[in-house]
Amino acid sequence: MNSADATADSSTTALATQSIDDMSRSYALTTRLDDLVAWGRKNSLWPMPYGTACCGIELMSVMGPRYDLARFGAEVVRFSPRQADLLIVAGTITEKMAPVLVRIYEQMLEPKYVLSMGACASSGGFYRAYHVLQGADKVIPVDVYVPGCPPTPEAVLDGIMALQRMIATHQPRPWKDKWKSPYEQA
Ligand code: SF4
Repeated sequence: MNSADATADSSTTALATQSIDDMSRSYALTTRLDDLVAWGRKNSLWPMPYGTACCGIELMSVMGPRYDLARFGAEVVRFSPRQADLLIVAGTITEKMAPVLVRIYEQMLEPKYVLSMGACASSGGFYRAYHVLQGADKVIPVDVYVPGCPPTPEAVLDGIMALQRMIATHQPRPWKDKWKSPYEQA
């Protein structure tokens, strides 16, 4: 390499360094680590559907192309609680299924969230009967309730967005902090 080439190379490198410096100045952003983590967390929810009745079928349309839950970063549906952080309870919970629901909740990763979809999951719905749990919150901590029988996909999306706001603003969740398994051995 002759001296002219070397000079050209060094001036190109200097120019590249300067433009990287300029770019880093124009794109720099400041935030708190907590906020950055919350931003990532709210946009990468991994739902586990606990569909026991008709609401489970309605939930499928939320995942489909028309409503497309992927737009909210929550399309990676897992059927293992150990790979999920958002439990979507969709359907009637019988008393016999309640311990199973609790077991699944306990196996999920922290931080974890629960969305109760529809009247049955939220309050037992029209089943005022001895064999039906009168709301998932009788056994697990619920963060968001979506009303309806069944709720519309838009209502479910609204519930997901409410949960995302809750995560982004670090909303305290005393119902979760104070939760104890109703089946815990004394
Ligand atoms: S809330 Fe209505 S649609 Fe949903 S599981 Fe109950 S009966 Fe079915």
